[in-house]
Amino acid sequence: MAKKQYVWFDGKFVSFDKANVHFLTHSLQYASGIFEGIRAYDTEKGPAVFKLQEHMQRFQNSARLYNMTLHFKAEELGKAIVQLIKKNGLKSCYIRPFGFYNDQRIGLGASGKSTSVAIAALDFGAYFSGKNEGISCMVARWRRAGPETLPEHAKASGNYTNATLSSDEAKASGANEAIMLSSKGYVAEGPGENIFLVKNGKLVTPSVDSDILIGITRNSIIEIANSKGLKVEERHVKPEELYSADEIFFTGTAAEVTPIIKVDGRKIGKGEVGTISQMLMDSYADIVYGRNKKYEKWLTYV
Ligand code: PMP
Repeated sequence: MAKKQYVWFDGKFVSFDKANVHFLTHSLQYASGIFEGIRAYDTEKGPAVFKLQEHMQRFQNSARLYNMTLHFKAEELGKAIVQLIKKNGLKSCYIRPFGFYNDQRIGLGASGKSTSVAIAALDFGAYFSGKNEGISCMVARWRRAGPETLPEHAKASGNYTNATLSSDEAKASGANEAIMLSSKGYVAEGPGENIFLVKNGKLVTPSVDSDILIGITRNSIIEIANSKGLKVEERHVKPEELYSADEIFFTGTAAEVTPIIKVDGRKIGKGEVGTISQMLMDSYADIVYGRNKKYEKWLTYV
């Protein structure tokens, strides 16, 4: 029989089915929650969480950007995650911490309203089926919000309403995922992924002022690429550059490194997984599964 599953909820373990809130909850009504997406991998030494501290810091930063008071520090939440994986008997899994206003009164203002943090850890496989063969994308009509609209470096529920629309738009058109443009019309990112182009043996990725979430996988890939002598340009990327790229791939906790072989129905490069994408996919897999000692510092063993 499957092991009973728990959710960590404000410092206590509650059974998975009991981790519920009322529908009038502020963060459900007004998308005022903040969250993280983290993975743990089943290494030879047992499950290990990838870049736990970085995710916990971004969680705290998202709260700060949205003026939300959390009653738990980064270290406490990090420990809770490790305990939860153990308690649920999970190996490779996806971890979803969520910080939210639990107040049920009508009214948009959040200041002074009480908050909760809940964490789920779930069995999880590849985010895109057919990931290893490459996916198809479509440039979406909805854009990422600019800095005058939202704190776009926060990983917050409200920042994702256009991401959901974009993802659905892409799927309705027969593509696997959307590529979103920045408020100024440059390439930004996927709804839940950062994007890299390969051009003449160099990597190009939208700069942090392209209305993107600063992905932890993005930072890891930049570091890995540099260590292999690959140059990485962080700059504004014009949409037309997508069509002439030699290779394109997404990065993200859920997406890991996912090659993109088609954009708007056009083949990228040869229309197959390129050599640099493949090399980075393999390197990333070696690191997260603890097979590369140099990067073991990125892992927190459970
Ligand atoms: N952009 C957005 C909008 C995302 O939701 C995510 C997933 N967290 C990413 C990029 C990739 O970030 P990370 O590598 O930290 O998962």
